[in-house]
Parts: sequence; structure tokens; C-alpha cells
Amino acid sequence: MKYFLLTLGCQMNKSDSERISTVLENMGYLPGGEEEADLIGVVACSVRQKAIDKVYTKIYRWNRMKTSRNLITFLTGCVLPADKKKFEKLFDLIFTTNELPGLPDMLRQYGVVTSFASSPWSGSKKNTNHAAFLPLTEIARDKQTPGNLQDGRTIMDRLWEIHPTYHSEFEAFVPIQNGCDKFCTFCAVPYTRGREVSRASGEILDEVRALMKQGYKSITLLGQNVNSYGKDKPETELSFAGLLEEIGRLGEVYGNKCWVYFTSPHPRDMKPEVIDVISRYRCLAKQIHLPLQSGDNEVLRRMNRKHTVEDYYEIVRYIRQKLPAATLFTDIIVGFPGETDVQFEHTRKALAAVQFNMAYIAVYSPRPGTVSARWKDNVPMSVKKERLHTLTGDLEESALRWTKKMLDREVTILVTGKDRKAEYLSGHTEGRINVRFQSPNVSLIGQFVRIMITSVTPFSIEGKLIEVEEKAWTDPLK
Ligand code: SF4
Repeated sequence: MKYFLLTLGCQMNKSDSERISTVLENMGYLPGGEEEADLIGVVACSVRQKAIDKVYTKIYRWNRMKTSRNLITFLTGCVLPADKKKFEKLFDLIFTTNELPGLPDMLRQYGVVTSFASSPWSGSKKNTNHAAFLPLTEIARDKQTPGNLQDGRTIMDRLWEIHPTYHSEFEAFVPIQNGCDKFCTFCAVPYTRGREVSRASGEILDEVRALMKQGYKSITLLGQNVNSYGKDKPETELSFAGLLEEIGRLGEVYGNKCWVYFTSPHPRDMKPEVIDVISRYRCLAKQIHLPLQSGDNEVLRRMNRKHTVEDYYEIVRYIRQKLPAATLFTDIIVGFPGETDVQFEHTRKALAAVQFNMAYIAVYSPRPGTVSARWKDNVPMSVKKERLHTLTGDLEESALRWTKKMLDREVTILVTGKDRKAEYLSGHTEGRINVRFQSPNVSLIGQFVRIMITSVTPFSIEGKLIEVEEKAWTDPLK
């Protein structure tokens, strides 16, 4: 039996896919291509309409395949109720990510004979026996939300206990938190993933320790609001800074041979202690992705971000002071309902003031069920596109200013794969600046190397290989 998974959206969905793979492989399924699969699943994303459109294209194709072979399809992930309703008749199964442990039961209803003997929590690289099987019906009957307690554990705890089938042997995602309490008016996440739930710190540290021991070079801590970690369990859990401190110590124990990233934090919860901890430990990567969304206070208010541009500048000032080598990434939305030319100019001003290395700029599109979807989407598409174009130009200027400083310097990079250019490999710096260099030696993939930078563009650099590195050094760049 073969399965094929299509994962759309953010890294959190990719991390969920790693747990879905474990459940399926424990049932006896093997990974395979779309054309040969007996089971096709989508880990979808309602955050962007583009991703939902892609699901439509695919499901019509897969349903046509059913005329010539047995095929079961399922849909899970970050899906808004309105989107879910539209897909009801197109997929065989639709379930939320926290209902994943019930998947074997659901498939048995389709006559799938499974070979798993005990529980779907057994991972391919580790066996755990903490959890009793919790069928979907039970979850549905109890109407549990991901954060509700059940025998001392949350449904999310049971999901996190499933050991992931990691997609890489040197890069790993570690979920530390799920859901969001912030309710930004444009965002689907609080409706698709529910309220904030923190994963037990002991479990996170066990996973990070195991990854460091195995020689993983890059670990990304994941959550919708990663720096609100622990706020739902103030009496019993570490704060986000406390968790980072423990991970920093683990890095020292295992020789600092790894970069640890996190995404995404919210400016409201970005406490100075977090920056302080990052500055103290070498393994905590000097790269911060801090979503700004808009550079105008009135737009931020209508987005319900609950911080001002000045608050954001304050955090950036502290980052620059404590982490001078850190790169700064952000997310921006252009064409939010009612965004005027003047308000857009304020966003341009903010970009110029902060000098980001990267900004993921999205053209606003209403998501059904969110607050802003009730407002008139009154910025014409032509204006949104023009703003996107203008902002991309601004970003290129600030990014190039940074990469130019890297010319003729030596930096450490993690080699992540083959480059599109023949005989070249690619990777990234600690600050996640893309790099390529000439080498036919694919055994370097998954290793740190030192390179001398010979040319730069706004978002990437090219260099010459000097040597293979053991450690994840931080390169001072001032
Ligand atoms: S903080 Fe806002 S944008 Fe981020 S997940 Fe929560 S609601 Fe969405």
C-alpha cells in the first residue's frame, strides 16, 4: 500500500505532515507517488486562497483517477469551516490535525486492513508507549478543543506524542506550541487551529536533545505564536526565554554544532529576556523573523495587532544592540481594507527604518469567517500589485546593503542541497541568507562549510569553498 501527501502552507503544516507519515507508515503504508498511491492526503492551508485553489485543481484530478483504481483521499491541516464545507463532497475523509490519531479507525471503515499492532504513537525512529489509542469518535463526542484537558493531557499532547518521520537527516522542525489567542482581523489561524496550547517543555527538550545527539545541524522551533510559549500554563511551564535558555545549554553540552531557529514570534510577546538569551548562547541562531504586517498605526489597530510601529522599533533597537550580527525578516500585508496611499507610505518608511534582510510581502485577500472578510475589500487589485512591486524594490535595496557588507568575508554556511546551477551546491548562512558555491561534492550536503564570499545580490550570495567546518560559528558582521 502506498500513500502520497501534498503539504501546503507553512512549516507547521510540514511538521504535522511528519506525524501523519508516522501514523500511515505504522499502518503499513509506504511513501509513493501521486500516480501509484492508494491513499492521497492533503495538509491544506486556508491562510492563502492560492493554496485552497490548488487543492481544488488536485482533488478533481484525483477523483477522476478513481474510475481506474481504488483510491481514498483525505483532507486535513489548517482549514477554515467555510472551506471545509466546500470540500465535504469532494474528499472521502476530512479531519482536523488533532484528530489524526483517529485516522487508522477512519480508514478501517473503508475496508483498509492495517498492519499496525499497538498504537499509532510509535515513531519510525523511536518507540513511545505513553498514550492509549483515542478514536476519532471519542474526540468528536467529547467536543474537545485542542487545549482541553483529558486525563491530565491535552489532545495536542497526544498528537505531539506521535514521533515524527523527519523529512531530513540534518534539518528538523520541533513544534512547541499550537494555536493562537490573538485574533488578528485578517487571519484564519485562530479558527483553524484553536487557542494557544504549549507543548510540555520536558518533551521538547527530549526531542531537541535527541536531534543534537544525532548530529542535526538546524532545528526550528515552531508555533503560531512561538514566543507566547508557556503563557497558557504559567504555574507549571517555562517561559519562552526559559525554554530557549535550556536549549542553549543543550547546545553547549553537545558542542554547539547546530543552529536553533524559531518561527513565528509576535511583537507583543517579544520580551527583552528572549533577545538576552539568544545573545548568550552560540547555538541560538542570530536570525529573527518578526512579523510587522503594516507600518501604519491605524492599519495595525484595525488588524488588531495591539502594538504600534514605535513598539516595533523599540524591539528592533534592542535586537540591533544585543545581536549586531542578526538578520531581520518580517511579514507585510499590502492592500488591507481601507489602506490609503499615505498609510502605505508609512509601511515603506518602516521598511527603510528597519532595513530588513527579507520580507514576505502578501497581497491582502479576505479569508472567509475572519473579521476583515466582513469589510469591503476596497483597495483595487491593480493598486495592491503596484504596492507589492514598490515594496519589493525597497526591500531589495535594504537587503543588498546588508549582503554587500559580506563581500570578501569568510562565513560559515550549512549546505542544504544541490543548486540549480550545474556543479554548484547551495545552503544558507546562520542568518538564512542563501548561498551557492561551486562544488560537485554532494557529500557536503548536511555539513557546515566555510566559504569566501565573491559576489552578492539582494537575497543571495556566491562564494568559494575554503574548508569543512565542525561547529556552527556565529560570524560577526558589523
Ligand atoms: S498572531 Fe495574528 S497573524 Fe499570527 S497566527 Fe495569531 S491571529 Fe494569525
